[in-house]
Amino acid sequence: MSDLPPMDVAGRTQRLLALLEGAGCEVLLVTNLVDIRYLTGFTGSAGVLAVAPHGSTLVSDGRYRDQAADEVAASGAPAVVSISPTQAGQRLLLAEALGGAATIGLQAAHVSWAAQRSYAADAFPDATLVPTDGLLEGLRAVKDDGEVARLQAAAAIADTALAATRSLLATGPTERAFALALDQEVRRLGAEDVSFETIVGSGPNGAKPHARPSTRFVEAGDLVVIDFGALVDGYHSDMTRTLVVGEPSATQRRMLDLVLASQAAGVAAVAPGVRCSEVDRACREVIADAGWGEAFLHGTGHGVGLDIHEAPAVSTTSTATLVAGHVVTVEPGVYLPEHGGVRIEDTVIVTEGGSRPITLAPKTIAP
Ligand code: ZN
Ligand code: ZN
Repeated sequence: MSDLPPMDVAGRTQRLLALLEGAGCEVLLVTNLVDIRYLTGFTGSAGVLAVAPHGSTLVSDGRYRDQAADEVAASGAPAVVSISPTQAGQRLLLAEALGGAATIGLQAAHVSWAAQRSYAADAFPDATLVPTDGLLEGLRAVKDDGEVARLQAAAAIADTALAATRSLLATGPTERAFALALDQEVRRLGAEDVSFETIVGSGPNGAKPHARPSTRFVEAGDLVVIDFGALVDGYHSDMTRTLVVGEPSATQRRMLDLVLASQAAGVAAVAPGVRCSEVDRACREVIADAGWGEAFLHGTGHGVGLDIHEAPAVSTTSTATLVAGHVVTVEPGVYLPEHGGVRIEDTVIVTEGGSRPITLAPKTIAP
């Protein structure tokens, strides 16, 4: 993975700073670790980033003295690292980094009640704390070329891993054994990890959209829903294919054809300027017209990046509009306990002129 192109990490802080005035704060305390990674390259498990016009400061503890310095320097982020072994010391460093700002933004979705109370009462008693919402979410939703390259590399590993393992299904493994083989292949191909806990749902288990791999043996006549991904430099891939062991029944065949058509309609709808709710509608309509609207149990998709689920949501209620650089999944499904489940999912990049899927494994049903 050493041939991945660089990302413009420094530019992210500049874009964030430009949003602060509109959010009603002079400085922002970033407490979500994934956002900290996005802004600084730091991958540790503890830290707070103070983003201020005069400079950003990453405060962490002694375990990350060298790692934080190395990662921040490698990313090119305009941030300095301050380390203290104690929480009290870290609070002092943060106060220093915020430079007496009168208004401090907090990430409302990523600050616990206890932390907010302690910031207000102990750490910054003289400042006004301002809740902010979705600042980083909006920035992270639009990927740069370096991010797209990582997402594509992750998706390519998943494609290859499925190609290498799918024939195993015909030998009747347990769901868990198949998931393990797939996960191993993903790691063997160079991913740093799997993207999330692999879903393998066979027979009736496939009718539960997020089935965890069980000790059930895959049998002839099963639909098998396989939803998995690879992690490359922090970026997730996400793809679902549904395979059939043996011959599908007439109903299963209808489910497969319908979800395939629904998914294709959704992918075809993805383009800049299109509302995410429209993509959802394109998928849902096909399934509803066939009378199985109630069996499509979830939203159509989600953004993918440093988190497996991020903005923008692709759902009935989503208010987002697609722009070039968004990366979203399109994953309709039909779930009928007596017949099993069918879901087909691709990850799609919104381009200037339309869209381009990056998950390319064939949608054939034979193992
Ligand atoms: Zn998925
Ligand atoms: Zn997904």
